[in-house]
Amino acid sequence: MDKYKAFLIFGPNGIGKGTNAKAVGTLPGYFHFSTGDMFRALVARVKEGTASELELQIDEIMKSGRLVDDETTVRLTRHNLETAVAGGRIDQENDYLLLDGVPRNVEQARMLDPFIEVCGVLHITAAREVAVERITNRARIEGRKDDQDPVAVGKRLDIFFANLSPMLSYYDSGFDGSPDYDSQVIHYIDAAQRPTKVLLDVLACLP
Ligand code: AMP
Repeated sequence: MDKYKAFLIFGPNGIGKGTNAKAVGTLPGYFHFSTGDMFRALVARVKEGTASELELQIDEIMKSGRLVDDETTVRLTRHNLETAVAGGRIDQENDYLLLDGVPRNVEQARMLDPFIEVCGVLHITAAREVAVERITNRARIEGRKDDQDPVAVGKRLDIFFANLSPMLSYYDSGFDGSPDYDSQVIHYIDAAQRPTKVLLDVLACLP
């Protein structure tokens, strides 16, 4: 099997990663895949009382702001991508995936390697305070369950910032930890710009 060609979208929670990746994913030749959306769809049955043991566990983990285990995450990601190929939603030879929310750590990055060819990392940057403010607003507007608890929101951001440098070093071994490191692989996009400018910067990185 050929590997999927993919751009990875990195960035703290709440700063528009999903919005931009979703917008680009509406264009022919690109397919947006979000592990957060994948897990939210999976736990939808919890409310109806028909969820499996795994779905109940994932619901608890998401509410607490922790990460689902790496093996489950990568297995379900691969399975969902294969289902999209089989259903004709991904043309594996020609389409680029926009991977949003995965990998979350170096272990997941390693586990993706056998089936994902990384063409670039789009790092949408924002300070922690900006992310907290945006998530708080999103919680009010969209009512997303995993945004409601400030402790869980803080935990998600802690995990993101703790894993960021190791992941950037994984994809560019020359990465020196500095925010203005010049890379062929990592593209920095400032989330504080107007939303149209953020999207333009994302598009400028893509083939
Ligand atoms: P997100 O919408 O990307 O912030 O994801 C929402 C929640 O889903 C996270 O807080 C995690 O509990 C879970 N999740 C999403 N992606 C991953 C991943 N790559 N690894 C582990 N857990 C994940």
